[in-house]
Amino acid sequence: MSQNVLLLSDEVMEKMKQYYHKSLTPPPQGAVFRAKTSYVVITAYKSGKVLFQGKNANEEMDKWSDQSSFVGSNNPKPNKSSTNTMYTPSDTLFLSSHIGSDEAGTGDYFGPITVASAFISSSQISLLKEIGVKDSKNLTDEKIIQLAKAMVQMRIPYSLLVLHNQKYNSLQKKGWSQGKMKAMLHHHAIRNLLAKIGNSHYEGILIDQFCEPNVYKKHIASEQGELPNKTYFMTKAESYSIAVAAASIIARASFVKEMDKLSEQVGIELRKGASKLVDQTIAQIIREQGEDVLQTCAKLHFANTQKARQYL
Ligand code: MG
Repeated sequence: MSQNVLLLSDEVMEKMKQYYHKSLTPPPQGAVFRAKTSYVVITAYKSGKVLFQGKNANEEMDKWSDQSSFVGSNNPKPNKSSTNTMYTPSDTLFLSSHIGSDEAGTGDYFGPITVASAFISSSQISLLKEIGVKDSKNLTDEKIIQLAKAMVQMRIPYSLLVLHNQKYNSLQKKGWSQGKMKAMLHHHAIRNLLAKIGNSHYEGILIDQFCEPNVYKKHIASEQGELPNKTYFMTKAESYSIAVAAASIIARASFVKEMDKLSEQVGIELRKGASKLVDQTIAQIIREQGEDVLQTCAKLHFANTQKARQYL
């Protein structure tokens, strides 16, 4: 199931309402209208937000996306926080040569955290868009692996770091928050990439924001790290920056591969996410192989470890 949001004007929403008039259903509270077809549910809100959900969410959204008030993006641009404008990129960054950094696996009970940074030169942006590089959340795992391969073939410079579960769990025990782990992974991935690209010109480094820039700075300072010049932060950055989108694909492809490897090692298919089904898998592992195995394949401090006990 995919879900997408567009920000549309009242006029476009009115047009949509007419277009879907045969499929209208009672709108939920706060909504202007809701349309339901066999493959998509569209809900338009007074704020101008229009939500597309279901199997055909992407295709259906494409019909309207060029009428969105936010050109070049499928998502409303996040509000700029006044205290952090110095870390907010200007719109020209997205069209320039720049570095993007993103991670995967942070919300998944099983498997590592992977972080990738990628350097995209301005001349590569259109080709990458053409081959379908975009936010990895809107892509299937199969497509992600295919795109990651294509980018390797294009020799896109990148740096990828994998924080395996044993190390994750020992850092967590030492008192590291997941935020600090992520910050350090981004920091090292970016530094490695900067060393790789040498004197190549870049307009900036954009990190898909997972915490306030000052918190990020504090994390890396606690390990004697410093923010490189021209570093920017932005939430949903993968919707605006092809470099962040590329990084998100490389990170996700690595996560998917690591999960396959772990599943093979454990001999049980490890599920992504942190759902009830994950709890049941945990219980199965504990029953069949003992709890120690989780050290090597899971993020132990997640609540799932405790929740799994009800299945034992
Ligand atoms: Mg991200």
